[in-house]
Amino acid sequence: MFKRILIANRGEIALRVIRCCRSLDIETVVVHSSADRDTLPVKLADRAVCIGDPSPKDSYLDAAKIVDVALKTGCEAVHPGYGFLSENASFARALESNGLKFIGPSPETIERMGDKEAARSLMKKNKVPVVPGSDGLVETAKDAREISEKIGYPVLIKASAGGGGRGMRPAYSSREVEKAFEEARAEAVSGFGDGRMYIEKLIENPRHIEFQILADSKGHVVELGDRDCSIQRRHQKMVEEAPSPFLTDKLRKKMAKAAVKAASAAGYEGAGTIEFIVSQTGEFYFIEMNTRVQVEHPVTEAVTGIDIVREQIRIAAGLNLGFKQDDIRVRGHAIECRVNAEDPARGFVPSPGNVNFVHFPDGIGVRCESALISGSEISPYYDSLAVKVIVTGNGRLEAIRRMRTALEELIIDGVHTNIEFLFLMMFNPDFLKGRYDTSFLETYTDDILNWMKE
Ligand code: ADP
Repeated sequence: MFKRILIANRGEIALRVIRCCRSLDIETVVVHSSADRDTLPVKLADRAVCIGDPSPKDSYLDAAKIVDVALKTGCEAVHPGYGFLSENASFARALESNGLKFIGPSPETIERMGDKEAARSLMKKNKVPVVPGSDGLVETAKDAREISEKIGYPVLIKASAGGGGRGMRPAYSSREVEKAFEEARAEAVSGFGDGRMYIEKLIENPRHIEFQILADSKGHVVELGDRDCSIQRRHQKMVEEAPSPFLTDKLRKKMAKAAVKAASAAGYEGAGTIEFIVSQTGEFYFIEMNTRVQVEHPVTEAVTGIDIVREQIRIAAGLNLGFKQDDIRVRGHAIECRVNAEDPARGFVPSPGNVNFVHFPDGIGVRCESALISGSEISPYYDSLAVKVIVTGNGRLEAIRRMRTALEELIIDGVHTNIEFLFLMMFNPDFLKGRYDTSFLETYTDDILNWMKE
């Protein structure tokens, strides 16, 4: 096992990794920007090194500096968390060539799965269902029209290098398709410096359901069940739960098998996620693989009892998975709410600032993951995620009741948050029945906002 690990991240996920390392007797070095000097991960790590200015490109994205600090502080491995350099193949490669272990899959796997069109082709070849669409890349707007006609409208034009919902445009008719193609490509070129595009059938109002995978370096691959992440605003997840209230046992088994096949086909090592969309009629399609730990991983931990970050570290150290597929049991129900510093009443604009006072909920089945403390600052330079509230219950309704209680107890004083918005969502009749898809927030946001005014 490693003696010392560098953590190339900040906020709640840096803290999450520090805590895990402590429990494994591994020393931690955290790198941070000058804006994060007074944060909890910096205080709690065994060592902290300031690597630059607040802007991510001057600190958390500065691969060369991070490699240098890892070498100078005698670290053996680097945990990238999520975001920042977590899916950056050249960072993983730079670590490797300096004799440091990247806690994640190989650079080749990151590359292959980061190219969405290549991932899609690989899945197709391995008989994992993908959304019907173009065979390979689509070069011109004219080709896009011809191919879309064959697929049948509506279609979704996607950037191969896309992420975070960018570089994606729907087209509902041949009149729209060329313009949509040019717009999506322009966004991909400016956002990712890569204008390679492909086309999928637009599945209307699907569910987003993903499977957590763990794979060790000896080729053992297991799945830890599913998460329903359909509650999204502009393709950003807001609430996640495990297991999905939509899946029948039969469909769940089929998807789980496909997820394991997908991860094996990718030659995967570490913790990863296979994302599917599921149509209203229960057809499921691979959309992408995330090659890192996900924000929503705690809902899976809550229902399986498996510490996913611990497994990531053990796998990176070359240890076998300590369990087999048959040993994994999903018990009860878990929900996560992402509490952000943002103002729902003003289009969810980020609301950075000083937090005078925080109070986290507690009690049976309640877990909060956050690096916030009273007096700390929510920085305008980074993501607005403030707290992840995760609840577990024997059943779904018990989990929902615990989430209501937890959100009522949570206090973040000084900035706007979506706490009340999330609290009211926990009373929405469709949510209560588990009847929702990716259009849920489009349908109900105004409703919930009006309710907040009352
Ligand atoms: P990104 O990497 O930008 O997050 P994804 O391919 O993961 O892009 O898609 C993000 C979201 O967009 C999905 O969760 C789903 O809600 C929606 N989506 C993606 N592909 C399709 C599709 N073919 N039809 C309908 N919705 C889709």
